Amino acid sequence: MIIFNPDLKSFYSTKINDDNVVSGFCTREAGDALRPEVVIDYLNEMQINHKKIIVPEQIHSVNVAYIIASNPANIENIADTDGIITRESNVVLTVRTADCLPVVFCDKQSGVIGISHQGWRGSLKKMVKIMVEKMTDVGSRKEDIVVAMGPSIGQCCYDVDDDRYINFMEELNGYSKKIFVMRHGKRYLDLPLLNYLLLLEAGISKENIDFFPFCTNCDSERFFSLRRDGKKNLQEMLSYVVQY
Ligand SMILES: [Zn+2]
Repeated sequence: MIIFNPDLKSFYSTKINDDNVVSGFCTREAGDALRPEVVIDYLNEMQINHKKIIVPEQIHSVNVAYIIASNPANIENIADTDGIITRESNVVLTVRTADCLPVVFCDKQSGVIGISHQGWRGSLKKMVKIMVEKMTDVGSRKEDIVVAMGPSIGQCCYDVDDDRYINFMEELNGYSKKIFVMRHGKRYLDLPLLNYLLLLEAGISKENIDFFPFCTNCDSERFFSLRRDGKKNLQEMLSYVVQY
């Protein structure tokens, strides 16, 4: 289940958070995660221990980096990357989103955590499946991986043009009947459902996946939204995971 913690200004998955793992999908109340000082202030204020914060550049790729805390910088930026995994403790993995989908991964058996950012481009290239594969490469078993999908734009608001639809038909034809909805002559993509289906395809069991019920574009009180706010006014929400 995903629940809201007003003290942490974030939602989190009860399948993931415990004494050893802290994760969250922040609301806009936590501030604009595009500003590093906002992220540091948030972690300090919430008393989330961190010897290091990892910030992927996010270029809508399916590149995944395995983090070893050898770099002494308190904030480490990872170029050309949209997914990060680690076995390290006290290393806060972050992504920033405003309509794209943030996903947190956690395997408590082997102590591997991860986080990824995916919009339609990353989803088309099956980013969540690649994250699961990278985690198994470093010792996770698929049946031990628990996944929480955060707030993204919903199928209520995500209309896509013909070109994008054709991209999906070419790459993911098997899912097209489930993930596209026609309304008033427009075609809408269900981004969370697509990623849920990709997680099942990757071998994650239904019982180990938590969903998010809200749409970032609809809910202006809680979320930033690229589509609603526009590029010029863009602010993004922090999502994070850390283990102790
Ligand atoms: Zn909506």
